[in-house]
Amino acid sequence: MSDASLTKDFAETAPSAGDLVVLDSVNKHFGALHVLQDINLTIKRGEVVVVIGPSGSGKSTLCRAINRLETIDDGSITIDGEPLPAEGRELARLRADVGMVFQSFNLFAHKTVLENVTLGPIKVRRKPKAEAEERGRALLDRVGVGNQADKYPAQLSGGQQQRVAIARALAMEPKVMLFDEPTSALDPEMINEVLEVMQQLAREGMTMIVVTHEMGFARSAANRVVFMADGRVVEEAAPHQFFDNPRSDRAKDFLSKIL
Ligand code: ADP
Ligand code: MG
Repeated sequence: MSDASLTKDFAETAPSAGDLVVLDSVNKHFGALHVLQDINLTIKRGEVVVVIGPSGSGKSTLCRAINRLETIDDGSITIDGEPLPAEGRELARLRADVGMVFQSFNLFAHKTVLENVTLGPIKVRRKPKAEAEERGRALLDRVGVGNQADKYPAQLSGGQQQRVAIARALAMEPKVMLFDEPTSALDPEMINEVLEVMQQLAREGMTMIVVTHEMGFARSAANRVVFMADGRVVEEAAPHQFFDNPRSDRAKDFLSKIL
């Protein structure tokens, strides 16, 4: 992987401080299930926040709400000072500010790797094709799959596909990257190559929200750990504080099962 910056273009234009993602009293139900319960969360520019918690605690719903893939019942979510609109052109624009990487790689199977990373910039950002391809190739180089540009996703390993998915999200020049268990579907030997790309992004100052069970990553890359259980943020702390000295019984119980 090259040392070249993955995010240089964005970092140079981004103001140096401020709240980038703000959730204020967010509630959501799925029928009788109160899946997000009065969530208050602020992610500052350049911050890396790792969200952990038991299965079913609402982590994915939280990510999907921030990208407006799920509606919320009440409260508000703002991205860089702008409230997430319900629909329309403004939503498409704000959604493009939030890069999302899922557990399943979600690449377009019938498009080449390069087409996967240039489609959004061309269609949504209205970039000229040549410019999108030049930048796309540079991003693929930086995540270490530059030589796979003309292949189709199925010809790549899971770790390579997930790195393409990261490049594809970065190609949209997002202000914040959301990762929802990006390594959970990978064979063990491929986890590190994806975590390394994420580590590099974090070092370069990308604002990141990462749902993961990779506690090594949380310890080394996160500025803050958010522990969720039963739809609530139960605990928020610096990684060393959270892992070495969890305050809540829920967190102690969770950590005793996974560490
Ligand atoms: P996590 O990512 O922490 O495992 P999720 O956000 O996926 O949790 O799910 C939280 C709860 O909401 C779970 O009980 C799940 O079954 C439920 N849930 C998730 N999506 C839906 C949906 N579309 N309809 C109904 N229930 C859902
Ligand atoms: Mg989930």
